[in-house]
Amino acid sequence: MNLVHSFVVVGLAVTILIARPEAAVFGRPLLVVRTYQAMPVEARDWKTVIHDATGILSRAGIDVDWVHCSSADSHIEVPTQCTLPYRWNEVGVRIVRRPLSPTRGKVMPLGDSLVDASTRSGTLATIYLEQVESLARTAAVSTNTVMARVIAHELGHLLLGTNTHSTIGLMRPAWTAEELVRNRPRDWMLSADEGQHMRQGLLRRSELDGAVASMPAGPNRAGL
Ligand SMILES: [Zn+2]
Repeated sequence: MNLVHSFVVVGLAVTILIARPEAAVFGRPLLVVRTYQAMPVEARDWKTVIHDATGILSRAGIDVDWVHCSSADSHIEVPTQCTLPYRWNEVGVRIVRRPLSPTRGKVMPLGDSLVDASTRSGTLATIYLEQVESLARTAAVSTNTVMARVIAHELGHLLLGTNTHSTIGLMRPAWTAEELVRNRPRDWMLSADEGQHMRQGLLRRSELDGAVASMPAGPNRAGL
């Protein structure tokens, strides 16, 4: 069973790489990911997901901080940071249960990313839990593992600022249950080249400032 995840691209332009010195610590930029959950996710599951996603990006030379801005559990206090405008090194990831309306004849995405090609960057990725669970079930692998990889893939799009896919590795356009069962490490890694371009893409956002951080602040503004 093949499931394909997709992306959305808006506009087209070229930007110039200029990095702010404070953006990097020993060449490793820090990405801050605000997360929004539309349904309950077991705390221990979520810990595993972000641990695994952090590992994938870390091996590509990018450190990640996670800020949990909304959860189906209303008792969890929202961090103050979530009420502030997005900074240049911040992106949002939302986990939703219901995918977008299916288009006849098309496979449903595991996730998608809103990428503004005019700035070659993106700020919001959406993960479709039902599709992730479906693929994980078919392959008889952990949903956490699949979700972590989908999140890392979509973060790749946001930082690369492009709809480009690779023929090999994590940035492949379609994943199969067979590939998940085979579990070859190289299928779930970002390449050195992708890591470099993602680091450059992240640092480049410091020069875009408000252009990138165009998504309003607040947990209710991310469509959840
Ligand atoms: Zn993709």
